[in-house]
Amino acid sequence: MEDYRRILQHNREWAAAMVATDPEYFKKRAAKQEPTFLYIGCADSRVPANVVTGTEPGEMFVHRNIANVVLPSDLNAMCVLQYAVEVLDVKHVIVTGHYGCGGVKAAMGSGSHGLVDHWLQPIRNVVRWNQEELEQLPDEQSKFNRVVELNVLEQIYHLSETPIIQNAWAKGGRPHLHGFVYDMHTGLLREIATDVNSQKAADELATRRLSGVPAGPPPVAGKLQPPPQTPAIDVGSGELADAIAKRVLDRLAAVGVPMKK
Ligand SMILES: [Zn+2]
Repeated sequence: MEDYRRILQHNREWAAAMVATDPEYFKKRAAKQEPTFLYIGCADSRVPANVVTGTEPGEMFVHRNIANVVLPSDLNAMCVLQYAVEVLDVKHVIVTGHYGCGGVKAAMGSGSHGLVDHWLQPIRNVVRWNQEELEQLPDEQSKFNRVVELNVLEQIYHLSETPIIQNAWAKGGRPHLHGFVYDMHTGLLREIATDVNSQKAADELATRRLSGVPAGPPPVAGKLQPPPQTPAIDVGSGELADAIAKRVLDRLAAVGVPMKK
């Protein structure tokens, strides 16, 4: 049998088995969906969301991409998030990474992989910001595993920064954000972050994702840097320049930009 025909055959067997167990199985699920969870995971074929979580159709809204990245600039992810939080009212959003993730591995290396390198850039930042911690680990496998975990924490933090989550928290402390890592060798999910449902909890998470460095602008080489100073403005010389500069400076002074005399 051709590979894709096997899929159709299995589908018919599965549908028949479900109806044999409960004649109303599909009728009940087709009427509406009220999922409890939004699952954000890697597209890796070895981590099938419903299978590893033991969830039935209708229980889990799912978004997957390479290396379970959450970016506010990703229209697809933000539409899924908004629909899940504001319309479906999910109680939990779970970011699930997995050990052995090819996307994370690619981000840790120096090779070029084409378009996907753009997608993986946020994970390169995770590696860079946590270099100090990673260098203390004994071998490459330990570093790889740790970056997988740090990437999950990072993506939960990205979620916490979206207006969608901020607005939902302001209304009632929901949804709760969680982080899991799946181990393909055992089939088990490991919980690495739980019940993040406030800015305070998200900030505490940030101290973990940045190797103990407090939340704030991304540090360079693991050290927290002071925020950059706004460059002072040189007024120049000449009457016209003075007149124009005065008007500009008056406007800038009103918003607190430092002036160079
Ligand atoms: Zn992966």
